Amino acid sequence: MLDYDLHCHSTVSDGLLTPTEIVNRAAERGVKFLGLTDHDNVDGLSEAAEAAAHCGITLINGVEISVSWRKFTLHIVGLGIDPLYPALIEGLQHIRSGRMRRAELMAESLARSGIGGVLEGAHRFAANPEIIGRTHFARYLVESGHCKDVGSVFKRYLVKGKPGYVPHQWVDLLDAVNWIRDSGGLAVLAHPGRYTAGRKSMGKPTLLELLTEFTDMGGQGIEVVTGSHTPAQYAEFSRYATQFGLLSSCGSDYHGPGESYRDLGRLPDFPLECKPIWSAWEL
Ligand code: AMP
Ligand code: MN
Ligand code: MN
Ligand code: MN
Repeated sequence: MLDYDLHCHSTVSDGLLTPTEIVNRAAERGVKFLGLTDHDNVDGLSEAAEAAAHCGITLINGVEISVSWRKFTLHIVGLGIDPLYPALIEGLQHIRSGRMRRAELMAESLARSGIGGVLEGAHRFAANPEIIGRTHFARYLVESGHCKDVGSVFKRYLVKGKPGYVPHQWVDLLDAVNWIRDSGGLAVLAHPGRYTAGRKSMGKPTLLELLTEFTDMGGQGIEVVTGSHTPAQYAEFSRYATQFGLLSSCGSDYHGPGESYRDLGRLPDFPLECKPIWSAWEL
């Protein structure tokens, strides 16, 4: 069992628990090293650091950056970043302003198919209005009785081809990698088993091209053990980690009670050939 959990979300993005609650829950569940990785935002890190100091957890400053690469949206996790690094702060600010525009378009699109008032409704679920995203829309559509749970809302409304889906241009992969690296962090490809364009999954040839580009531009890690991978995928992505000389990372991608594949911590060990991402740190 790993006592590292290097990917999770708080109310500062689309999680249900505050940074303090996340840290305390992680500590109760045996996590010793926690990476808080809110989407496109580092504002939860100072609160998390304070909570971590009180319960003996080492907090890793993290972020999960939304990126457009070819026709895919990718997520790049930055670990050990400096949350005060100006280029990173400006880049994240730019992404957040795009999120607010996208939310308006999503609401307009849903209104055209007969579901009104969604922007206001979704904002009630977003503690931080700048980071408004599909999860907040999903929670509102559950509350207002359109679907039974968040997963069903995604399927019915929020993925490509559905009424609430709006294509969006995030930032370039190279920019995200540079902001992370230049701020002192390690750039990690998040949940590589989950990328799709529409209903089609990425496929091996494209994944190999992505991993080639990502490592060439300075990417250092890949999530092998993540809440949304199967054990077969731990093995598959550990092979890619070895092939591309990438460090292996692990994280639950926890978003809150009742909404996640996995709770915080207690992640299974890496396959033997993996070199853990923490071998790059002196903790
Ligand atoms: P956004 O960045 O606003 O496009 O929202 C992406 C977030 O939506 C992810 O980080 C997940 O938290 C959530 N998400 C994506 N797909 C699903 C799904 N099929 N079911 C539940 N949550 C999802
Ligand atoms: Mn999320
Ligand atoms: Mn993600
Ligand atoms: Mn995540």
